[in-house]
Amino acid sequence: MTAPLAVVYHEEMLQHQPPGLEPGMRDYHARQLRARLGELVASGLWRHPERPERLSSLVERARELDDGRLLWLAPERADEPTVRRAHTGGHMQRLDKLRGRKRMLAIDSTAVSPGSVDAAFRAAGAVCTGVDAVFDGRAASAFALVRPPGHHASAAHYRGFCLINNVAVAAEHAKAVHGVERVLIVDWDIHHGNGTASIFAADPDVLFFDLHRAAPYYPGSGALEDVGQGRARGTNLNVPLPAETSDLAVLEAIDRILVPAARRFRPGLILVSAGFDGTSEHLACRFSRELYAHLTDRMQRLADELCHGRLVLALEGGYHLDPMREALAHCMRTLSEPGSELPPIRRSRIGLPAVREAADFLAGQSYLLQD
Ligand SMILES: [Zn+2]
Repeated sequence: MTAPLAVVYHEEMLQHQPPGLEPGMRDYHARQLRARLGELVASGLWRHPERPERLSSLVERARELDDGRLLWLAPERADEPTVRRAHTGGHMQRLDKLRGRKRMLAIDSTAVSPGSVDAAFRAAGAVCTGVDAVFDGRAASAFALVRPPGHHASAAHYRGFCLINNVAVAAEHAKAVHGVERVLIVDWDIHHGNGTASIFAADPDVLFFDLHRAAPYYPGSGALEDVGQGRARGTNLNVPLPAETSDLAVLEAIDRILVPAARRFRPGLILVSAGFDGTSEHLACRFSRELYAHLTDRMQRLADELCHGRLVLALEGGYHLDPMREALAHCMRTLSEPGSELPPIRRSRIGLPAVREAADFLAGQSYLLQD
């Protein structure tokens, strides 16, 4: 029997506990960051934002929503050859050396605790398990509740709280193990998925569509003009959004850019880098929590039309628990009750002109948007 939705989770991912900036931490980046954050750290107010409660709180919400039809899957850790498909040998060695260590790795507060590397391999394994479940028919779609997140990690570097690029590993896994020829990755996290973009910049078989708050917002990449390299030109579609962008603009970007490009591309699988940091509380844009129901519905319909419904979402960012829990609930309800009525969204038009400009520009740049 096929479950409407698999939820993939393992408690080992709570063992990633990025350290604060306690005085005992003397490595270079900890000292730099402590100096930069000053009073906030001195007064004990700073906590690492990528904390275990982000995930435990979502898992608790998912359990509340379970009416007995959810399929809960506990993933294995991804093995080394699986992760190696998206990462360099050097990166694998670096991760290996970080096992059991507590360190601040970068000025953007990417950090590890003793359990972080195993947690990262478990997170990558979770997204692969979600892919397996939609291919072997155990579930119609899957949501991998994971951390550490992945979309800022490039083939050779950790960055932005990300150690392993979970979605990139899963895309390569789908190609290698399930024979998928083309994968669509949609990244609706509010930060540009610079790691994913770089890993697939020259791969014509991965269409990467990324909605994000425009530079100079972190990580500062994701320009409209970056449309992919060489034979992959046209398969990297960025939609940089101005501050305060709200629901109508986001849906316009999906309908005018993503949908026609995806139809032309004909993916065998859709992966979503599902960050929940677009909500107003996160101060980058002004997505409503209800928007995530509409986004999920658009993804589900595309998957039904193009790839036998094969859709796998993976958690990326999101740091305020209440809006994340509600956004997740909207995604899960949409996936487990297809065809149900969608909640109303904000009617704000902020961001619409930028999206229309992006659509016109990309129509001239990508073969996927030309007749
Ligand atoms: Zn983010």
